[in-house]
Amino acid sequence: MDIQQLREEQELILSQVDNAIALFDRSQHLVLFNQKLAQMWGLSISYLREQPHFTEVFTSVVKQRYWSRSQYKQLREIMETADNKGLVLDVEQANGVYLEVSTTVTSNGGRLFTFRDVTRDRQALLDAAWMQANLNAEVKRLRFLLGLNERLQNSENLQEIAQFALNYLMSAMNSAFGDVKVINGEGEERQAAVLSNHISSQFIATYDPPEIDRMSEMLTEGIPYGEGLLWSVVETGKPLFVEDYYQHPQAVAAFHHPGIGQLGIFPIPATDGKIIGVLTLESRSLQKLQKAPHQDMLLAACRALGVAIERAQAQDNLRRMNEYLERASQLKSEFLASMSHELRTPLNSILGFSDLLLRQGKSLKERQVNYATAIYNSGKHLLDLINDILDLSKIEAGKTQLDLQMVSVHALCHDCLAMIQPRADKKRLTLSVEVDASLNKALLDERRTRQILVNLLSNAVKFTPEAGSVKLVGRLAYGSQITGDYRPDRSAINTSTPYLCLEVQDSGIGIPESKWHLLFHPFQQVDSSLTRRHDGTGLGLALTKRLAELHGGTVSFQSTEGVGSTFRVWLPLTEMRHSFKSQSEATESQNAREQPKQESVNAQRVLVVEDQPYNQALISEMLELSGYAVELICDGGSMMSAISSPLVTPQNLPDLILMDIQLPEVDGLELIGQLKAHSVWQQVPVVAITAMAMPGDRDRCLAAGADAYLTKPLDLDKVIATLKSLLDADVVSG
Ligand code: ADP
Repeated sequence: MDIQQLREEQELILSQVDNAIALFDRSQHLVLFNQKLAQMWGLSISYLREQPHFTEVFTSVVKQRYWSRSQYKQLREIMETADNKGLVLDVEQANGVYLEVSTTVTSNGGRLFTFRDVTRDRQALLDAAWMQANLNAEVKRLRFLLGLNERLQNSENLQEIAQFALNYLMSAMNSAFGDVKVINGEGEERQAAVLSNHISSQFIATYDPPEIDRMSEMLTEGIPYGEGLLWSVVETGKPLFVEDYYQHPQAVAAFHHPGIGQLGIFPIPATDGKIIGVLTLESRSLQKLQKAPHQDMLLAACRALGVAIERAQAQDNLRRMNEYLERASQLKSEFLASMSHELRTPLNSILGFSDLLLRQGKSLKERQVNYATAIYNSGKHLLDLINDILDLSKIEAGKTQLDLQMVSVHALCHDCLAMIQPRADKKRLTLSVEVDASLNKALLDERRTRQILVNLLSNAVKFTPEAGSVKLVGRLAYGSQITGDYRPDRSAINTSTPYLCLEVQDSGIGIPESKWHLLFHPFQQVDSSLTRRHDGTGLGLALTKRLAELHGGTVSFQSTEGVGSTFRVWLPLTEMRHSFKSQSEATESQNAREQPKQESVNAQRVLVVEDQPYNQALISEMLELSGYAVELICDGGSMMSAISSPLVTPQNLPDLILMDIQLPEVDGLELIGQLKAHSVWQQVPVVAITAMAMPGDRDRCLAAGADAYLTKPLDLDKVIATLKSLLDADVVSG
């Protein structure tokens, strides 16, 4: 085989090899190569065949800018430091080709190089890394969206949502600072107030604190309408990008800072599209903000913020509205309470004097008796009205608390029927009562339940013509049994709860269906004509409903015009869970009313402390008529001097003091306190009198040391009974 043939075969084999190959002999001349080598660096075969020197070959590679000088230097160093085989160097050529270079020393001192093109492997690796990074970013975005959604659903805190969105967007956009602002107010009065802002610690570290402070200050104060760039975003609803905020003529003065580069201002829309806020992001990356790969996240964040801001504003409005309503309701009840006080005081005189007149009946003409009776009855009616209004307003103001006790339903029903009996008798109505044998005691506020029954029974008697019938039924019923009745509202009723159902049936005039909706509302009367035949306040049913609701129950009725009506009150039967007040305490107040009238003459001395002349006259008359000796003190100051007088001895003390609480200068409570702290005066029983029957009055009087408590208008019988019981007790104990 000749050399030529050998060479050709060699070349054939070498051309099959994937890598470029170069063999240099010990004098560093190229003795063997393949086509790949020539192609790789654009060298001609003929040139390579001339056996160029190693330095020459690589100088040309560097010259043609495939390799850099330092890459070539690196190769030389490797060859010098280690002459062993298989040494590897990675070279990234300027044309984007990656080479893996390995070199081996041959047995005769030459050197073999192989250059493997690994560009594709590298690319695959890079692709994988890129995909991984992409995936990570995607996961982050998803997490952000999820987080946003979660916060939107669970968090009431607008700030927290804004902070969360800012944190993500700032890190995604490489921002030094960002903020979320809310637009408050209307028109030219609008202000952009910052909701949440964040300045990166890096930014703070590189810039002066006073400048940062000024920026924060500006943000907390709010940016007035027209200032800065954000208002155009609010107007147009389109995002605004500023590449060099520092140089921008419209930049807000406090933000005129070279540290601020490009700025993006994004609109935050409400559901109706109105712009209710803006999100501002600064960005330090070279990439323009409008090209940043997070536009969709920005959009999502702005939408979420829009929803959150809108919700917070709605809640705020609701809260303000509630406060307003609460205040209005409080004012209303305060007004009613003070009105009723103002009305009760003169009423006190009207009732008292007409009562006095009637008590002197023998010396009056019949006409005068009639007039006095009319005055008394009208006054009484007015008093009922005032009391009902006061009751209703107290319930509506949430100031009424139930005094729940175990009450015998039987006794209660019979009591109420007895109270209404005289009125029924006048109209020759048949009254009857039927109470379930299984009903024993129920947890009720006895006074309020009595009020309910008396209201319903009075109406039944009032609206039933002569010789008709009225029946009171007390039974156990389930909530489900209410279904056939008309109800004034849809208040919740528990179908499986047992209720005490109190029912008043009458054979009266009934109520036309067209008027049913009027019932149970204050001041609504079916027959509201001026000439109506029945008197009444139009408050009874409204009060009844509220009282039932206070018990956790409700009301319902059935009625047929000309046939009759059945009103029902549903009071849930709650299990016994309180320790109850003694029965005697509950019936005490009632007994007082039934005391026989006092006519006996005695010389017991009653000191009356009262500033109003009418009341002085009235009380004096009342007491003197009952045989007491009355002494008067007209103001708190005089009473104070009386208490501290050195002339006071146990012998010249009065037997009892009637003390008005509302006195000018020193009030009655203060005086009672002084009396009870005095070594001599303390033995005198004190009866406190107030005009304003508000909850807590009684307790305050008793706490101050009063022995008993009465309200104006004074009921003569009650005054005498109270006086008698205190004076008698005094005699026994003394
Ligand atoms: P008042 O009876 O003081 O007018 P209420 O609130 O108790 O006020 O009642 C409101 C109205 O409902 C009455 O004026 C009357 O028209 C009607 N009403 C109430 N109870 C009956 C009844 N048992 N029969 C017929 N109408 C009734």
